[in-house]
Formats: sequence, C-alpha cells, structure tokens
Amino acid sequence: MLEGPTLEAEYERFREEAIDFYRSEFRPEWLQTEPDSDAYRALGKDLDNKLIARGWYTLHWPTKYGGKGGDLIQYSILREVAAYFRAPTYGGHGRYIVGPALFEIGTEEQKARHLPRISRGELIICLGFTEPDAGSDLAAMKTRAVDEGGHFRITGTKLYITFGHFANVMLLAARTDPAAPKHKGVSLFLVDLSLPGVNMKPLDCFTGHRIAEMHFDNVRVPKDALVGELNRGFYHMTVALNFERSGMERPAAYLAHLEDMAEYCRASGLWQRARVRQLIGSLAAQVQAWRMISWRVVMLQHRGLVPSWEGSLAQLYRKDINPQFGKAHLEIFGNAGLIERFDPDAILDGRSEWFLREGFNNHGQGGRFVTRNVIARRGMGLPAIRLRDHG
Ligand SMILES: Cc1cc2nc3c(=O)[nH]c(=O)nc-3n(C[C@H](O)[C@H](O)[C@H](O)COP(=O)(O)OP(=O)(O)OC[C@H]3O[C@@H](n4cnc5c(N)ncnc54)[C@H](O)[C@@H]3O)c2cc1C
Repeated sequence: MLEGPTLEAEYERFREEAIDFYRSEFRPEWLQTEPDSDAYRALGKDLDNKLIARGWYTLHWPTKYGGKGGDLIQYSILREVAAYFRAPTYGGHGRYIVGPALFEIGTEEQKARHLPRISRGELIICLGFTEPDAGSDLAAMKTRAVDEGGHFRITGTKLYITFGHFANVMLLAARTDPAAPKHKGVSLFLVDLSLPGVNMKPLDCFTGHRIAEMHFDNVRVPKDALVGELNRGFYHMTVALNFERSGMERPAAYLAHLEDMAEYCRASGLWQRARVRQLIGSLAAQVQAWRMISWRVVMLQHRGLVPSWEGSLAQLYRKDINPQFGKAHLEIFGNAGLIERFDPDAILDGRSEWFLREGFNNHGQGGRFVTRNVIARRGMGLPAIRLRDHG
C-alpha cells in the first residue's frame, strides 16, 4: 500500500529502487527481535553499514560532508520505505536531527569535525533536554554550564535519554545565564560522554524502550563544544532541532503492521466479525491521514518553509493512534494478544503484545495535552494558556 505514483517520476523511480534494496536485504529477525535489545542493535548496525556503503545513510547531505547530495523528498522516501520494511537501525539522532542542525548553526570547524563522522555511523548522538523537574516545561531546566575562561563546567541531571545507554556524544541544553528569564539564558553543547564526571544509569521502560538517566558532575567541556550562539539555545531548539522531528517514517511502520494484522484476520477467519472489520478499516483511514500530514511537513521543509503547527499535527496523530492501536489488538485477538514474544503461541511474533505496551509511549516531545495546546495556539490562533488561569 506504500506504492505511488503520487510524486514526480524521478522520485517514484527512487522509491522502487529503495523498495528493491529493502526487499533483498529483508530478514525475518527484523520483526522477531525486541526493539531496543542488543540483538536488534546488532541487526541495525549491519544494515546501517550497507546504507553507508551506498551513500544512503546521509543521502540528503552534501557530498563534502559524507552525503550523496540528495534532497529531502528522496530522503523521506527512503525513511518511509525503511520503516515499511520495519528495518532496524543502530540509532542515534545524528543523521536526522543534530547533523542537519549543525548545517544551520554549527561553525565550519564543527561541521568539518562532526558531520563526516556522523555520516560514517561513528558518532552516536543523544539529545539531553529533559530533567527530573523539567519535562513539558523545559524552560524550568536547572543544569548549569559555567564559563570558567578556558572551558565550561557542566553540572546537572538529564532524564529519559533515548540512546543514552550507548551514545558517545550528547547534545545537551544547559543554563548559561541564570539571571535571564526562563526561556532565555540557555545554550547548547555537544558533550563527549567519555569525559570525567559523566555517569549513566540505564532505565528499562515497560514499553520495552531502554533509555537512560545521565549525571554530569562538574564536567569540563572545551569552549568549542558550544553549538550556536550563547544563550540562544531555546531558539535553536525550536528552529534548527525541530527541523527533522516530523517522525515522518512512523505511519509507514504502522501501516505495514496493520497489513499484517489484516492478513492474520483474513487467514484465521477473524475477519468475519463485523467489529474486526470496523477496527481495521478505521485504523487504516487514520494511519493514511497521518501519513499525508507527515508528507505535508516534508513538502513544507523541502520548500525551505518552517512548519509551525503541522509537525505537532503529525505528532498528535501518533499520540492519539498509539493507544487505539494497542486497544485494537486486545479487542481483535483477545487474551492471545497478550502472549509475549518468544512464546510459540504469540500473535504476529509477539508484536501484538508489544503494540499493547507501545500504546503507553506517548510522552516523547511533550504529552498529548501539551501537543493539543500547541495546535490550538499556533494553528487556531487561541491565546497561550497560563497555569494560573486555572486557579
Ligand atoms: C521513551 C521516552 C524517550 C524519551 N527520550 C528523550 C530524549 O532522548 N531526550 C530528552 O531530552 N527527553 C526524552 N524524553 C522525555 C520526554 O520529552 C518527556 O517525557 C516529555 O517532555 C514530558 O515530560 P515529563 O515526562 O516530565 O511529563 P510532564 O511534563 O510531567 O507531563 C505529564 C502529563 O501532564 C501533561 N501536562 C504537562 N504540562 C501541561 C500543561 N501546561 N497543560 C496541559 N497538560 C500538561 C502532559 O501532557 C503529560 O500528559 C523521553 C521520554 C520517553 C517516555
């Protein structure tokens, strides 16, 4: 169901090429391995190496920095096809988020030093924004970076860090001017996680995701670790870092899984229940709408425009569909849907049970209520809510 033609012929040809690649590389273990496990990462590393060899890993970057000079549409096609095949990846936010941000706000020296290494899969970068008392209200962050002349000294805790348990670099937000208003006086740093004073504690979520709590105890980072302008970190986070956060590949992965569910229902006879057909049909419509919104985000970005609320629309679709998806597994498969991976009776290699857990994974990039507020404000022009308005 991913097939076009919906784009110009050259893009559709590239889609075919990408489909051929993933079809020939496909291994059943991709679907049978718990996401975020070591075995999954090993499969991802193997595939990443093949993408690197083809120049596809950072396809849309200039050749000078290890890319192939492709455009965002080609790259989005590749991401979508990879997700449709549920292809594993080793991970890190380098090629999607931090690399493109460095093009915008990095110095020439930072670009030359970091981008080729990201394109070779050598730098695994995590994002360090959230803190124990600063989640949705990110501006409440307390981590400090003190300018001590020859270096910055960083102290604080970052929480729920995806890839934190194996990343070698963190893009960290820290307060550099404590006297400035909450949304000002924050700066971004690329921190080498092997420096003395960095401590990592892995956290296993019941959703199956492995994330980390990271402690920074008087960590001395060189002056050139500062990314972008001093005290403009919040601005950089909203403009440069959000650039590729559409999550545009996700609907394709959900679509592929929904097709597997439909096939299971067809083969097992479950399809004859009216409720089953209603659920599959309704989820298919929502996933396709989500996919179209995600493509709209890509098209705006391709034209050099900054999506203001469209990215939040795509995020809200994921957050609203996620729990519905989980619930649908339970309604369709009943208790059998709860059987975990590695049990021979598990439905769809245990992916049914996994999606039930994944239904709770709705916090990343802000909770559902926060996302709805953003849409109401930026998309529909309502004034910003202040908590004291509620008494
Ligand atoms: C699996 C996972 C991976 C993550 N990866 C990263 C990462 O790599 N890097 C990183 O920096 N962070 C990461 N996070 C953190 C994530 O960004 C935060 O969880 C998110 O910002 C919400 O913050 P919080 O958990 O403190 O929840 P809270 O901010 O305490 O929110 C709790 C609930 O209250 C609601 N709420 C809060 N404020 C308001 C308001 N003003 N109006 C209405 N409702 C409100 C929220 O919608 C939510 O439902 C990750 C989280 C998870 C679960």
